[in-house]
Amino acid sequence: MAFLEIEHLEKVFGPLRVVKDFNLSIQKGEFISLLGPSGCGKTTVLRMVAGFETATSGAIHIDGKNVVDKRPNQRNIGMVFQAYALFPNMTVAENVGFGLKVKGVAGSEIASRVTEMLKLIGLSEHGSRYPFQLSGGQQQRVALARALAPRPQVLLLDEPLSALDAKIRVSLREEIREIQKKLGITTIFVTHDQEEALSISDRIVVMHQGIADQVGSPFEIYNRPATKFVATFVGTLS
Ligand code: ADP
Repeated sequence: MAFLEIEHLEKVFGPLRVVKDFNLSIQKGEFISLLGPSGCGKTTVLRMVAGFETATSGAIHIDGKNVVDKRPNQRNIGMVFQAYALFPNMTVAENVGFGLKVKGVAGSEIASRVTEMLKLIGLSEHGSRYPFQLSGGQQQRVALARALAPRPQVLLLDEPLSALDAKIRVSLREEIREIQKKLGITTIFVTHDQEEALSISDRIVVMHQGIADQVGSPFEIYNRPATKFVATFVGTLS
């Protein structure tokens, strides 16, 4: 079994089946993108992996354990959202240490972990600032550090770049990828931007109306699209 194994995952909202028989095996340390147009079910898959949304059926195994019925705080997952979602009344250091404090980690350990995380994201000098004193890109780096501080097994990124302007988006996605590789953390990245997915992923899952249309390397997705939808969406067929 792969490190993160998603089997026959389904989600029904009222009359809508928004995720249909979704299957995916992710190796430890892999960077996977869920790519597809708005409304195709990407966020719902991610939220089910995180435990914020209950699955209608199916299984999610992390490191051999089925976590599908576990609460989010029992899953050892870190998540970064589209909007920065930092606590505005806490300093950068307090934001980064928040998850550790909740877990009851000792103060001295929190301090050293926060120092390590701020160094990782290149904001060592900014620990005592407040979120409003940072740029959008810096705030997202703090959100990343906050997600990583408790040393999760899996990192989930839900369109973390889409609120930023184009130039920052490119530099930050490269930075995220470097940090991900350095830590070797298994990552799922949700995006509707094909260029973004093609440029940073080990593998891409192209989703369409709740279904994984194709799973493959960026090269395969771009050069050998399995369906007309994939070809159109990645731009090789207009
Ligand atoms: P994406 O992330 O690809 O934009 P989502 O996973 O957010 O797509 O949404 C997939 C579909 O599920 C959409 O049609 C959306 O309207 C619907 N949906 C998402 N969350 C809910 C909810 N809580 N209740 C009802 N429908 C929902």
